[in-house]
Amino acid sequence: MIQSRVFVLYTGGTIGMAPSNPEDPDSPLAPQPLENLLGFVPGIQGNPLGTLKSARGAARDTTAPFFELTNGNRIEFGFASFANPVDSSDIGPAEWREIAETIATHYDDYDGFVVLHGTDTMAFTSSALSFMFGNLGKPVVLTGSQLPVSVIGTDALPNFINAVCLAGYKASGLPLIPEVVIVFGDRILRGCRASKVSTSDRAGFDSPNYPHLGDIGQKIAVNSEHVLPPPEPGKTFFVNSDLVDKVFSVSLFPGFSDKLMRNLFLDPEIEGLVMRSYGAGNVPRNPDFRETIRRAIKGDSVAGPAISGGRLIINLSQCSFGSVDMGLYETSSSLLETGVISGLDMTPEAALTKLMWTLGTQSGQERIKQMQISQRGEQTEHVFDLHFHGACLESAHGEIAVSSNPDERLDRNRICRAMLRIDSLRVGNAEAGDRVRIRALMNPPAASKETGADPELRCVADFTIKMETARPADTYVKNITDKTRSLIGDSDVTLVLIGEVSKGADWIPAEIGFSALTISVFAKA
Ligand code: ASP
Repeated sequence: MIQSRVFVLYTGGTIGMAPSNPEDPDSPLAPQPLENLLGFVPGIQGNPLGTLKSARGAARDTTAPFFELTNGNRIEFGFASFANPVDSSDIGPAEWREIAETIATHYDDYDGFVVLHGTDTMAFTSSALSFMFGNLGKPVVLTGSQLPVSVIGTDALPNFINAVCLAGYKASGLPLIPEVVIVFGDRILRGCRASKVSTSDRAGFDSPNYPHLGDIGQKIAVNSEHVLPPPEPGKTFFVNSDLVDKVFSVSLFPGFSDKLMRNLFLDPEIEGLVMRSYGAGNVPRNPDFRETIRRAIKGDSVAGPAISGGRLIINLSQCSFGSVDMGLYETSSSLLETGVISGLDMTPEAALTKLMWTLGTQSGQERIKQMQISQRGEQTEHVFDLHFHGACLESAHGEIAVSSNPDERLDRNRICRAMLRIDSLRVGNAEAGDRVRIRALMNPPAASKETGADPELRCVADFTIKMETARPADTYVKNITDKTRSLIGDSDVTLVLIGEVSKGADWIPAEIGFSALTISVFAKA
């Protein structure tokens, strides 16, 4: 007989609710103690209440209650409950910490964990826990139900039993899922990819931009190819619960007031914003709105009340399916220049909790970097920004050579897109109407004679622009994916920018300068 040990933490939610007035079945539902819930779960042998602990209570009881599975194996339980079970509308960072710390306390004693939780904010909790846990090697399964456990035809029992089987994978013979997941209805979903999609369907959750980790029919089928690998041997589990909750989410709508947005940022407490934009990340062209965004990030103050900078602003689509693609349309490309971060295909729950966690655990430029990297499989791609420092220097010789050191996590074999971005191009010796040709060479050989390589083969971008004025112009974005894949190499990336300006029939070296030069490399997570 194989035995698994599963720890169940009850936080509240419909699963354990009953009418607040027992005499009136139509009175509003209110959370009840765990004892009531367990009274409706058939098949638990032993006395579950004998092991009931406060959430962070003492170690396990030796006379643990258990489930006898049809394969003859056993799942042994430990139970704990929030002191006051709640509707999940009342769950926030303090409760996420309590859940995380409870699991950490019992981590070594159990094979898996089940968190019984209200459905309304379950996807926020599953996302937050995903980020808070480091080196998670065991299943943490959140579940709840649309109908209370006491109601005939409730979905509470199958959800509870499926969650327990997944957490007690050794006894039930299922593959290990070393992730925070939601088990609900007929699906197993990655916690930081899931959203509540129905107020009443049994399949109340889905993960619009990621395949199900498993499907539940007559049997539970785990789609192991989509599951994250366990941590490397020797890496120990930890909890990092430093979250900054001074964040906001705003969903744009036609006619929204840029003034209200500005007022929001006048509050120096606000450190981050998830901006729900249209389609693939588009926002109105309204200059006042864009200026507010720019100031909230860059912080330089112009006339009027000061807006301090340094905020993280995440661009997230209002669409559930698909990804933000800043630069695809004119209406989003200037956001790149202001430093808005793409939320790619994250769920709103993941974006918001990742923002809180990133603000709490990182500082300075590292915040931007970590926000763009997939931490727990919450987004399909990593984004690595290669900033070419020194690019802003003016060059009178028509050539600027700069280099950047990519993050060690960038896997060159997984590059799916590379975008070159030149912000605020200046050409000192161009007049309005002149044409300017810019070529970008990647990693040109130090001595081309020696290597015999043709520098032109190193050209990742070659474009000509008609200068409207000689002053800072727009952002130029070029897709340089194909050449980057073959040229990027394993160490620092060098970029040589060659500028020429047309003077009549002649091309002469251009005095080029930029405010920033960046390559955003998108790599499969
Ligand atoms: N309001 C309930 C909650 O989130 C809804 C549910 O559990 O289904 O706690």
